[in-house]
Order: sequence, then structure tokens, then C-alpha cells
Amino acid sequence: MAKNEQFVSQIADIETDFPQWYTDVVLKTKLVDYGPVKGTMVIRPYGYAIWENIQRELDARFREAGVENAYFPLLIPLSFMTKEAEHVEGFAPEVAVVTHAGGEKLQEPLVVRPTSETIIGHMFGKWVESWRDLPLRQNQWCNVMRWEKTTRPFLRTSEFLWQEGHSVYATGEEAERETFAMLRLYGEFAKTVLCMPVLTGRKTEKEKFAGAVATYGMEAMMHDGKSLQSGTTHYMGQNFAKAFDVRFTDKDGTLKYGYTMSYGVSTRLIGALIMTHGDRRGLVLPPPVAPVQVVIVPIAAKKEGVLEACRSLEARLKRAGVRAKVDDSDNSPGWKFNEWEMKGVPLRVELGPRDIENGKMTVFRRDTLEKDDGYALSDAETQIGELLRTICKDLYDRAERRMRERILTVHSPEELLDAVNRGNFARAGWCGERACEDRVKEFAQATARVLDENHTETVCLCCGKPAKHTVFFARAY
Ligand code: ZN
Repeated sequence: MAKNEQFVSQIADIETDFPQWYTDVVLKTKLVDYGPVKGTMVIRPYGYAIWENIQRELDARFREAGVENAYFPLLIPLSFMTKEAEHVEGFAPEVAVVTHAGGEKLQEPLVVRPTSETIIGHMFGKWVESWRDLPLRQNQWCNVMRWEKTTRPFLRTSEFLWQEGHSVYATGEEAERETFAMLRLYGEFAKTVLCMPVLTGRKTEKEKFAGAVATYGMEAMMHDGKSLQSGTTHYMGQNFAKAFDVRFTDKDGTLKYGYTMSYGVSTRLIGALIMTHGDRRGLVLPPPVAPVQVVIVPIAAKKEGVLEACRSLEARLKRAGVRAKVDDSDNSPGWKFNEWEMKGVPLRVELGPRDIENGKMTVFRRDTLEKDDGYALSDAETQIGELLRTICKDLYDRAERRMRERILTVHSPEELLDAVNRGNFARAGWCGERACEDRVKEFAQATARVLDENHTETVCLCCGKPAKHTVFFARAY
């Protein structure tokens, strides 16, 4: 029996009890803990460090695209929510409302933001006067609150962290173009930073954002074959501009309403990468977001020169921009191996007297569980850097292959049910009618995730009428 067997048994089996595996992993690796208020989570330092890496990578991309960061208030007047009819209807069931403050009943109740289209629309209305003020493109990193009945850390919690970008343009074409550009930006980010393949495309009317003209999403396939919505972009047309009087004087001197769009990703992304890459030993973190990329474990640490050699390697790797860490705690090497494997650190370097004498280091890859003692210590920076890039590519390729193999084209509700029961996504023709979409939900507990841009199916899987779209259906988190 392998050394790690006893340790693995602390985590539920990934194949037979995936939900429990997820809960065990997020708690035991200290990513999160439950907050005292039901449905809230505490993001612990190891989890928050992943979020900070996600933030840094995304923020750089937004800046590059010309978006500025700002911060808008947490509290929104209740009346704002009611200005856009669909928006209030969509969010009403999950909104938390403040009615008392300072020991008094408030004259107007205040909503804890579930999203900020209304308050940002209000402020944009104030700031936009002329075509010269456009486009206005701002993003905020903040928390939002959506009161949820059933919750799971990172996937669905009452309060979560996210970014929400909001833009107003003079024309619908420009606003729509940014809706697509941000969807592409998210897809590229998922691929290169999270090593996670995604399906991107338009959402159906039923699945779109409350108040939007069109919503686009990126969906990722989790280990169990369910889908996780990992980011969305929304084209609002003039809906919010009209509700909040976002008007500008155009070049021809006439007063016109602007066109708005928004886009967001949240701490859900952490849940997505856990369930995309994790295995029976626990987390497998993509190198670009791993808080520790290389853990250095001294072997026979008390022998002369071992700890010094580990610290010197750590310093060299850090100088080369690698997040390296020596585990110099007094636990046994075996214990350390298990701990860092469960925590998903991409690479482990073992350094003992014999390695040091030979000028070698033993490197263990978390994703493949392969160990190689042939690496030259003198060339550590280059080799570790290359390995981290290889891991990234291999993680993506593995997940992409799984997703490709597990998308089945189906032609009836029965075939669809069978496909999703066996952990697949189902691709099918759809007439565009809500009734057929509802029938799939009822029959197979699967929803339309996104429309396939590559529309090839000719008939609706439910009613047999001509297909207007080809849809990816899946069970979803
Ligand atoms: Zn139909």
C-alpha cells in the first residue's frame, strides 16, 4: 500500500462521493471555513491567496483593455431596484434589505447590493453629458450579497467576492462588441491562468440576466460532468440607460440614451478550478494561481548543510519569480509530502545529503504523481520554470480532452437523460421554444448552458420542429 493511502482516506472518494470529496477538500486544505451566519464563508489565507492571484491576472488584462477601477457603495436605495422591471423581479427573491440603522427605522429601506447595475447606472447618468464622455468603462472589485437557501463554499454563498465591469457607449454596436470582447478575455484567462477549457456562447432567454437584452456565458465541465457557469457578460441595450436616464448630447446636438453592458466573474472560479483539476489526493492547483508553486522538503534535515541548501534554492527560485517555500517544520518528510499533495502544490523538490552531494534534486509533479531524481541543482531556475509551464499545458490538455470526449450529440429527451446520467454534456438541436427547454429541465434536470456557435443540428430534440439553435445542455451547479 502506498505511503499516502492512510492520508487519502481523510478525503471522501472522488469517484463515488464527489460532493463530500469537495467539502472535505475545501475544509481540510484550509481554503475556507463556514461563517457563523448560515450561508456565509470565511475565505482563509490559502484560499484568499488564490483569489489574489486571480485578481492580479484579471486586473492586468482589464487595465490593458483600457478599463478603470472604481468603487461604488454597498447600499443601494430600494427604489433603484424597482426602476428596471425585469431586474427587480429577477433579484427580489434573493435581496437582503436594511430597514433599521442608528437605532431608527429608515425612511427608505436600503438593499445590500446583489449586483450594481442600478447604482452605477445612476452615477453614470450623472457623469455622462456629451459624446465626449463616452465610452465610460469602469470596474469594481467588491463583495455582493444574494440570499441563498442551499449553499456550498465558493459555488453558492450568500456573500461572495467578484469583479463587475460596467460600460456605457454611444452606440449599441460598440456596447455589443465589448460584450463579446470581454467574453473572449474571460475565455483566454480561463485557458492560460486557470488551465481550464470553457464553452462560451449566448444564453437562452430563460437563462439570461434579469434586465439584459442578451447574456453570454462561459461554462466549464467539472470532474463529475456537471457544468459550472464561470463568468458572464451582458448586453443591456438601452434598458438601464432609460431606467437611470443615462443620456448624452451627440455630435449632431441631439440628446440620446447610451447603451450599456456589464461583465463579471467571482470567487466561484476557485470552485471551478478545484472541481476541474482535483483528484483523489485533493487539490491540483494550476501554477499561475497556486499560492505556493514549489515546496522544498528537506530530507534528513538535521544533517549538516541540508537546510542551508534548501534555503539557498528557495532564495534562487524566488529571485527567478517562482513562489517557492521551504517546509522546515519538524513534521516527518512523509507527512509533509501528504500535506502539500493534498494542498495541490504543483511541484515538490526533495533535497537530501545525497542529492546535494551529487548536485541533483528530486522533483515530484503533483498533476502526474511522477518523481524524477535526475534534475541538476545548478540549473534549477530554468528547469522549474519549464516544468511549471509544462504542467499548465498538460492540465489544460487533460481537461480539454475530457470535455471533448464527454460532449455527446443527442436527438431525443431520452438520449439526453442517458447522456447526463453518465456525466456528459448533451449537444442538441432546439426549436427556440421555452416549452421544449422546460421539458428538458423537467425530464432530465438539465438546463441550456450556452448556444453552440457552430449550429449544425437540424431538428429540435423535443418537438421535432426545425432547430433554430444547437444547444449545450448539462446539469449545472
Ligand atoms: Zn422544440
